[in-house]
Amino acid sequence: MPRALITGVTGQDGAYLSQLLLEKGYEVFGMARRTSTGGFQDGRLRWLGIVDRVRIVDGDLTDLSSMLRLMKDIEPDEVYNLGAQSFVGTSWHQPLLTAQVTALGVTNILEAVRVMRPQARFYQASSSEMYGLIQEAHQSEKTPFYPRSPYAVAKLYGHWITVNYRESFGLHASSGILFNHESPLRGIEFVTRKVTDAAARIKLGLAQKLPLGNIDAKRDWGHARDYVRAMWLMLQQDQGEDYVVATGRTTTVRDMCEIAFRHVGLNLDDHLFIDPDLFRPAEVDVLLGDPAKAHSKLGWQADTTLESMITEMVDADLERLRSRRV
Ligand code: NDP
Ligand code: GDP
Repeated sequence: MPRALITGVTGQDGAYLSQLLLEKGYEVFGMARRTSTGGFQDGRLRWLGIVDRVRIVDGDLTDLSSMLRLMKDIEPDEVYNLGAQSFVGTSWHQPLLTAQVTALGVTNILEAVRVMRPQARFYQASSSEMYGLIQEAHQSEKTPFYPRSPYAVAKLYGHWITVNYRESFGLHASSGILFNHESPLRGIEFVTRKVTDAAARIKLGLAQKLPLGNIDAKRDWGHARDYVRAMWLMLQQDQGEDYVVATGRTTTVRDMCEIAFRHVGLNLDDHLFIDPDLFRPAEVDVLLGDPAKAHSKLGWQADTTLESMITEMVDADLERLRSRRV
């Protein structure tokens, strides 16, 4: 039975990746942070019905000693580093924490792999935010980076230290440059989930308005369930490499909202208002990925359209609100 260690197991991708690896017969160890309320943030694993099948181990990416201990005790075959301060907006409010977790945390876990478990295969959760002020219309593995937030700067460090450990120490280390991916388990602070939750609340008479910032921004949105499959495929290759994972289609925030509101029979313009406080200090105007390498080398492609993902999210939010699982 292969063993996988996942950091960020309580997050969106950690939950879907755990589900995929359990289906494939892995023993899944998920690293989670202690909370003062006891236990850990288990809501997403519960939602997928797998909370009892993931072996939760405690640790924190900023704590090298916990990384070393986990590599020694678990002896994983595959390590997926999904843990991060992952929200761009928060990274301007907490830039140092973002650097410590999202950037230096990657070196902590790579060091632990190098010292304790160099034969393990390693996945780093890199981000399309690294392209920021885009240098090419379609962003591929060869497109130069231009990060536009403390989050993106931290992710760029994580990306290059992964490349460097592969080249310096021969680790099987891959960096997945994933474009935005969403699901019913997406954090409520991200724009898709904020919108699908608002559409559901307004439909049920629980809210009236949807405040948003820059609705002209464009993103290449896919479904997290499809994207965790790409992570696993990367670690099944003979060599560690870097891959762009994207749909190859870009859509404005406004058009994404239209899909959500239309699904519940609401007119978006009756509810949307622009809140200047929600604009960011520096914006990423457009992202559009070129997933050709993932197609040809991994045999991967995005199976879920934006329309079916957004309607799935609205339906899940309606169900949550109706059953008071908010
Ligand atoms: P989430 O925000 O849902 O999950 C982040 C996870 O990181 C949570 O489990 C969180 O734990 C954990 N975490 C935060 N701080 C620490 C820490 N100090 N030590 C250990 N774990 C920590 O993110 P996603 O699941 O959406 O994304 C997974 C990864 O992929 C992230 O690295 C993200 O930056 C990256 N990414 C995501 C994209 C997307 O569109 N979703 C696009 C490209 C990259 P807790 O529950 O305790 O807070
Ligand atoms: P990001 O691409 O990782 O920053 O993902 P987000 O979902 O947080 O944001 C996607 C885009 O939506 C960005 O260009 C934001 O500026 C834009 N956006 C507009 N209004 C909002 C809002 O109210 N919340 C968030 N999170 N993003 C918004």
